[in-house]
Amino acid sequence: MILVLLGPPGAGKGTQAERLQEAFNLVHVASGDLFRENLRQKTDLGNLAQKYMDRGELVPDDVTIGMVRARLEQPDAAEGIILDGFPRTIAQARGLDEMLDDMDRELSAVLHIAVPDEELIRRLSGRWICEQCQTPYHVLSNPPQVAGKCNLCGGKLYQRDDDKPETVGARLEVYHSQTSPLIEFYREANLLREVDGSGEIDDVWEALKNTVEALE
Ligand SMILES: [Zn+2]
Repeated sequence: MILVLLGPPGAGKGTQAERLQEAFNLVHVASGDLFRENLRQKTDLGNLAQKYMDRGELVPDDVTIGMVRARLEQPDAAEGIILDGFPRTIAQARGLDEMLDDMDRELSAVLHIAVPDEELIRRLSGRWICEQCQTPYHVLSNPPQVAGKCNLCGGKLYQRDDDKPETVGARLEVYHSQTSPLIEFYREANLLREVDGSGEIDDVWEALKNTVEALE
């Protein structure tokens, strides 16, 4: 089974990928980890990527695709794999198709954890930090006893720029503009499976699990 997992920041993709990995005996391949691993081990592809990065250029798709292929060819990936963070572009999606064709394997489904933006903004912009002792709080999951005040030292709570609703909104816009062509691409290929990600972690997991079981 080969799955691609798509989801906006704040959708809990990492947690769900871990659960998928355990429940279905899949290997979770996060493209960021794969990249760092290649750089660290100084593989040929890692060194090539490093050259582009040193020049301040984008790493070309074929380098990224090569790293994914090398990972897919390792024995532990034979059972199945969850790709996370790859593909990011249509060119990479086509590269994945060609690679799998070549390996005589095929993509089982693309799971998209969909969450309305307003809910994501609520989740992502809820972080507040004590300006004195740096203790973090979250208005939804870990609110302070007194609004705006630290439980431990009584210090004033503030929000980092990254956690402010307008910054979060801008991040989500970038995400949508990058991801929507990919979602269309896989919808047309009849591989897209939408999962409602607006509920609690366990509810989302239940929906995701049912979707994957239906593929088997
Ligand atoms: Zn404090």
